[in-house]
Amino acid sequence: MNNSRKEPIRYVKRDSNGKLIPPFPFDPWELTKQTRKLVCRKTKGIVQRKYTHFYKAGVYGGIATAYSVGCNFRCIFCWADWSRDWPELYGHFYSPDEIYSKLRDIMSRKGVKRARISGAEPTLCPDHLCAVLERVNEDSEKFDLFIIETNGVVLANDENLAPRLSKYASRDRRKGTVGYVRLSIRGGLPEKFEEKTGCKKEFVDLPFKAAERLWNAGVSFHVAVVVDPRFTPMKDKEIIYNKLKKIDPLVRRQVEEEYLSPYAHALVRLRAVGRDDVTGKKMTLKERAALKERPSY
Ligand code: SF4
Repeated sequence: MNNSRKEPIRYVKRDSNGKLIPPFPFDPWELTKQTRKLVCRKTKGIVQRKYTHFYKAGVYGGIATAYSVGCNFRCIFCWADWSRDWPELYGHFYSPDEIYSKLRDIMSRKGVKRARISGAEPTLCPDHLCAVLERVNEDSEKFDLFIIETNGVVLANDENLAPRLSKYASRDRRKGTVGYVRLSIRGGLPEKFEEKTGCKKEFVDLPFKAAERLWNAGVSFHVAVVVDPRFTPMKDKEIIYNKLKKIDPLVRRQVEEEYLSPYAHALVRLRAVGRDDVTGKKMTLKERAALKERPSY
């Protein structure tokens, strides 16, 4: 069975021979459409999106975070909680005004000037995202930075999104925008991309297309690449860097190199694809706890 028949796509599993178990690999655009039906809705003209929680995170020097539900990738090392894989079971719908208020409230209480939409894939509902950014933009003196973390699938498919984001996240400093995009690129070699994301390998170029669109639209952004050699061999890394260099040498130079930490949900996901070279043979307590709270697969 494949995902054209709308089988829910949870997390990647491999059989004892190392073969992907259907519905993997999947089409990320199909998954985008399926997930949107669960996490985006319009009520009385207001575009709401699902989130699970709101908090201050220590990264980026302290940042107010809205944790969104649902993603269109299934990275094997993903640290997001089970709301990524079971978006229908988690979270509540919030309007752009509510998200803005919640983030501002955390910023005031915790004394930070940075905010972000994180968790899973913030661009799944572009109209909701742009409405939040519109409010941030109206109040931009209250922010140092507003970060959008994305895998680029929606940006690659929707030619209007990068130009829309440029209004809130411009590379032109004179415009005084505070928005900023962090684009994750998972693979350069098609097989490695498929292995890491669970997506069909023919979609390997989507994130590069997103980088090109962001660059051409004048959006303020950088690319993050998992260079951890347990997942990205040198050849894969070289291809990623060469493709970025072709967009512009600056895009390549500004790459953020990521190494992975073994968060609880990542451990469960990695073990499901047979990566006990990373997880270790024995389950840790935190991995057991994540497995225990997982909905039935
Ligand atoms: S793109 Fe990010 S949130 Fe989505 S599966 Fe990959 S690591 Fe997780």
